[in-house]
Amino acid sequence: MRIARIAHPGGVAFVTVDGEGDDLVAREVADHPFGTPTFTGKSWPWADVRVLAPILPSKVVCIGKNYAEHAREMGGEPPADPVMFLKPSTAVIGPNTPIKLPKDSSRVDFEGELVAVVGRPCRDVPAARAASVLLGYTIGNDVTARDQQKADGQWTRGKGHDSFCPLGPWIDTTVDPSDLAITTKLDGEVKQDSRTALLLHDVPALVEWVSRVMTLLPGDVIMTGTPAGVGPMTAGQQVEITIEGIGTLSNPVESR
Ligand code: MG
Repeated sequence: MRIARIAHPGGVAFVTVDGEGDDLVAREVADHPFGTPTFTGKSWPWADVRVLAPILPSKVVCIGKNYAEHAREMGGEPPADPVMFLKPSTAVIGPNTPIKLPKDSSRVDFEGELVAVVGRPCRDVPAARAASVLLGYTIGNDVTARDQQKADGQWTRGKGHDSFCPLGPWIDTTVDPSDLAITTKLDGEVKQDSRTALLLHDVPALVEWVSRVMTLLPGDVIMTGTPAGVGPMTAGQQVEITIEGIGTLSNPVESR
């Protein structure tokens, strides 16, 4: 099942996205998408709705340097344990919404990432039970003002600007995340091309690691880290991240 959030003429709703190719249909879910959804009976052609971020998380948990090649391109060896940081929930935007480049940064990078979406309140989850607390998976862009990240010594400013967390287009509840192709294109040119099998700490290990620290709530997201090939975006460009079995997250880039 694919779960999305849309704006329609009457408001905002969670929907399931049914069908294939150009014939997708958004079917409105009553209340919330956790557990077994019930439907209101309303539906719209997918092409006619405005797609929002598929979830509004209470927190965005991110993992840094979780692919060896990316750790090396950042100038170091990968750390033994996952490196965890947070993005503010206000950084989240949906597909096709502009990433806004702040005036006080001269380098803003894309980072295509597989994102795990939490489905129930939990803490101290053993890796073996991780799948039971997750709703599914979506695609994220851990947008980073690289100059600010380096200047500050910690990452809140560089990673926390409004619009620096595109998510979407939907949450896939059935995909197996263990070995999916992940690619990032900038204006159609492939910049990142890897597989989630190369994650140093896989999704179950990350759920265990994060939930040992903080209670995870329904809708919280864990961004699993980016592969090698990160690079800068400039105003007027289009960034497109595709994960096999999930879909494509596309955003234009604009000056703020
Ligand atoms: Mg990242």
